Amino acid sequence: MKRGHNPERSCKVCGRKAFKSDLIRFIVKQGKVLTDNQQVLDGRGAYCCNTTSCLEKIHKKRKIFSRAFGL
Ligand SMILES: [Zn+2]
Repeated sequence: MKRGHNPERSCKVCGRKAFKSDLIRFIVKQGKVLTDNQQVLDGRGAYCCNTTSCLEKIHKKRKIFSRAFGL
C-alpha cells in the first residue's frame, strides 16, 4: 500500500522546502524544545532539515523558535 499524500513543509532554519517525511518536527512545550520523532505530539510544531547544520542551529538558537512560535 502506498500513501499518496506527502505534504511539503519549510525548514525553520534555512527555509528549504522538503517533504514532511524528510524533515524533523519540533514542538515547544513549557519553553523546552522537544523533538517529535513520531510527528504526533500536540502543540505548535516547526520543521527542520535532517542535517547536522540545521539541527545544531535549532538547539543553539532558540530565538529561531521563539520567532517561529510567536513567543
Ligand atoms: Zn534547513
